[in-house]
Amino acid sequence: MKLIHSAAELQELLDYERARGNKIGFVPTMGALHEGHLSLVELAKKAADVVVVSIYVNPLQFGPKEDFDKYPRTLNEDAALLQQHNVQYLFAPSVDEVYPNGPEITQRAGVTGSTFEGASRPGHFDGMLTVVNRLMEIVQPDAVVFGEKDAQQVFIVQKLIKARFRNCQFIEGPTLREPSGLAMSSRNRYLTAAERQDAENIYSHLNQMREELEAGAKVSETLTKHSAAIETTAKAKLEYLVVIDPQIFRPVNDDYRGPAKIIVAAKVGEVRLIDNLNVKAINA
Ligand code: AMP
Repeated sequence: MKLIHSAAELQELLDYERARGNKIGFVPTMGALHEGHLSLVELAKKAADVVVVSIYVNPLQFGPKEDFDKYPRTLNEDAALLQQHNVQYLFAPSVDEVYPNGPEITQRAGVTGSTFEGASRPGHFDGMLTVVNRLMEIVQPDAVVFGEKDAQQVFIVQKLIKARFRNCQFIEGPTLREPSGLAMSSRNRYLTAAERQDAENIYSHLNQMREELEAGAKVSETLTKHSAAIETTAKAKLEYLVVIDPQIFRPVNDDYRGPAKIIVAAKVGEVRLIDNLNVKAINA
């Protein structure tokens, strides 16, 4: 595996791969890799001949009071894991390589960019889209893989890829979970044992909600019941717990019929976690 810091060098190597007829798969990450990231690498391998993984903690998508400085950076361990998974190129650029004219928002996420995650983290999706757009320009992949774990990100980024990188296949990878059901996340390492139990408890509520909704429970009643239960039994501070229509990423009402998604964000201690679960159908 080649570790590359320069965009120009990566582009030169990828031009060479393309000239040999190789398809390029791309997995953008912020590092601190876990099995979830590696499952996306495996999907990229299936869709392409060579795989590029980027590790870049993007300052533009963190708010002033967020954990940009504290975000885990474990490049050596990450490189070893990617090597074991036969990744050909690890791209770990500096801020100057990504933003030669300085970090500046160039992409806007629109209306969906200011709801849920965007409401809790103003500007987050503009920053995320800006870096994805820039990394896509550098890598020009044939296939790109994102995780369903970040459902709103997938919803927003998919539109950018369809509009600006039309020949690139967009792949959505399922969420990998711990045996307890807790979604794997780079931030889980900051949970104490007690906080981890609280985080697992949120997942178990998501699961119960899914079962109840699929069995015909009312959306409003299900939300009220489980929001209250999460806040009292877990030391979690809910930011949102909503049932949405995944086609438009907006809340559904009690009359809604069809597939849905439960989305949640909560602070457990100092750690902010998000998760989501698909509901096969409501009022089917
Ligand atoms: P991050 O490094 O957190 O920016 O994540 C990089 C990519 O990995 C994103 O597309 C995430 O949605 C995805 N991802 C994060 N956690 C998981 C997980 N538990 N399972 C599958 N994909 C994940």
